Amino acid sequence: MNIKTLVLDNFKSFGRKTRIPFYEDFTTVSGPNGSGKSNIIDAVLFALGLARTRGIRARKLTDLIYNPAHDEGDGVGGTREASVAVVLDNEDSTLTRAEVESAAGTEDVGDVDEITVKRRVKQTEDNYYSYYYINGRSVNLADIQDLLAQAGVTPEGYNVVMQGDVTGIINMTAGERREIIDEIAGVAAFDAKKEDAFEE
Ligand code: ATP
Ligand code: MG
Repeated sequence: MNIKTLVLDNFKSFGRKTRIPFYEDFTTVSGPNGSGKSNIIDAVLFALGLARTRGIRARKLTDLIYNPAHDEGDGVGGTREASVAVVLDNEDSTLTRAEVESAAGTEDVGDVDEITVKRRVKQTEDNYYSYYYINGRSVNLADIQDLLAQAGVTPEGYNVVMQGDVTGIINMTAGERREIIDEIAGVAAFDAKKEDAFEE
């Protein structure tokens, strides 16, 4: 499974709806400083619900909504919203139809060769709201996280390697490094379940 397309709408510096294609093996993004390369990574973290642990660059969720006066530090009031859709190529059936249906809470999920995970943040006069979707069906964050975990994508995992993670890994003790390998191999989830069982 891999990311096929990213669709950013009003997200950070992407004030217009922007489709970014990803290739199967390797995609690089280049551009001048401040052109929005890292914002693309933030978009992935935001949409896949990995933001809390992976260090998304925003103090609050509403900072992720496009703000034409961002560099002047001015806020924007009223109703505004941003969204990011991550289109996953699931042609290799990494996730089964049953898994997608179960996460979406309906059999009406369309073609699962392609799975679209979408998140929307909406700011109103006095509050903000997050909405999540799997193939257009409204779900909770936990549904997305459970689904992605079955494909080995977890908030604690290293599916996204951030700047500084590499030196962090080099400076770790052997034991800590082992934990990362357990996490990637999917063993850690079983260790956690085992611990829970012992506690019971
Ligand atoms: P570098 O090469 O320096 O790492 P980059 O291409 O990674 O640069 P980003 O950090 O992705 O650049 O983008 C930074 C730009 O995004 C800044 O110009 C900043 O003003 C803009 N930006 C961030 N949040 C918003 C927002 N909510 N609305 C509008 N623009 C924003
Ligand atoms: Mg950058």
